[in-house]
Order: sequence, then structure tokens, then C-alpha cells
Amino acid sequence: MATDIRAQLALLKDLQAVDVVLHEIQLELDSLPQSIAHIEAAHRTAKEALAAHHHETIELEKAKRLEELEVQTSTEKMAERENKLYAIKTTKEYQAALKEVADGKKANREREDRILQMMERLEELQKKTTQLQTEAADKESEYNVRLAELQNREAELVKKRDETATRRPQLISQVDVKIMRRYDFVRNGHPDALAEVVRGVCSGCHMNVPPQLCNEIRRYEEVKTCPSCRRLLYTDITT
Ligand SMILES: [Zn+2]
Repeated sequence: MATDIRAQLALLKDLQAVDVVLHEIQLELDSLPQSIAHIEAAHRTAKEALAAHHHETIELEKAKRLEELEVQTSTEKMAERENKLYAIKTTKEYQAALKEVADGKKANREREDRILQMMERLEELQKKTTQLQTEAADKESEYNVRLAELQNREAELVKKRDETATRRPQLISQVDVKIMRRYDFVRNGHPDALAEVVRGVCSGCHMNVPPQLCNEIRRYEEVKTCPSCRRLLYTDITT
């Protein structure tokens, strides 16, 4: 018994409706990891900025404590020196000791200036850290919400894909093996391997289909392909 081409094309049309949905689902599923990476990056940037400020604060506090300690040690040393100035016997040694004390005090003033600058920077950092903490917290909750949304969407898509895919085997089982092979072959290039000829034009590639070919398609003796895009062609089928 000859293959009923019209019925075969009707089956392919049903199969394509399923396959196009599956293709769209897959495209969206494939795009999800990138969307997740995108929101992760925004979240990470906020956390890194906060961590950088935290690190600078800690280092600066450490440096400030060191300077403070040095001021303290040096102040004590200079006071001790001054107290012992009276015991110095020679003018030369006395002048040297005075210079040492003056130099020590000058170094301390410079240290105090640095400490002041550090305190100013620490104040700035404190303000910026508070701001960054708020931003990081916002990004964190935004990230969690978006991630949950994307994960829900993924689950939804997987479910829909699996449900839709269950319709394929029953349709495929009725399609002629050779026609199925041609359909699958074209589908490697176009997700819609089957195209309707509307007013002499292939609806897949929008190129004209020669009138002779249109007549052959209408005879339904075999499945015809578009000369331009190779899609399988049909016309006047109602399913
Ligand atoms: Zn075409």
C-alpha cells in the first residue's frame, strides 16, 4: 500500500508543533546558566567592594596603632633624655643631645600628622563601608530572589519539556521512516523543518516556489522540498 503523503504531512505538522515548542524550551533552558552567572557577578562585585574596604580598614588600623605606639615610645624616650640633660658634661655632647631631642619631637609631630590623616581616611572608610554594606545586602536579597525565580523557571521548563516530549513517540511511530529521516535532517538546520506554501511562497524562507513544484506538492505523491531552504513543503492541509 502506497504511503498516504497527505496524512504523513499532517502527522509531521503535529510533530513539528511539538518540536518547535521543545526547541523554544531548550533555547530558554540553555540561556539560564548565563542569566544566573550574570546575577552572580553583580552579587560578587558588591561583596568584593565591601571586602576591599574592610581589608583597607584593618590594614590602616594596624598602621595607625604602630604609629601611635612609636609616638608613645619616642615621647617617653625624649622626656628621659631631657631629664638627663643636666648631667651632661661637655657642650658638644649637650648640643648633640638637644638636637636629638628636637629631631625626636619633630619626628613625632610628623607621626601625629600621619595618624591624623589615617583617622580621616578611616572615617571615610567607615562611611563608605556602611554604604557598601547596604548595597551588598540589597544585592544579596536581589540575588536570592532572582536565583529562586530562575530556578523555578528552570523547573517549570523541564516539566513542560518532559510533558511535551511524551507526545513525540506516538506521532513518530506513525511517520514513515524515510520521511522521518528527511524531517530530522532538515531539522538540523531549521527548527521548523516543515513549511507551508502560501500563494506560491515558502513560508520558511519566503522564496518563491516554482509553479510546477506547487502542482506536484498538491498531488501528494511524495514529500517535496523547497529548492531554496530544503524545508519539507505542504499546502492545503487541515489537521
Ligand atoms: Zn524555503
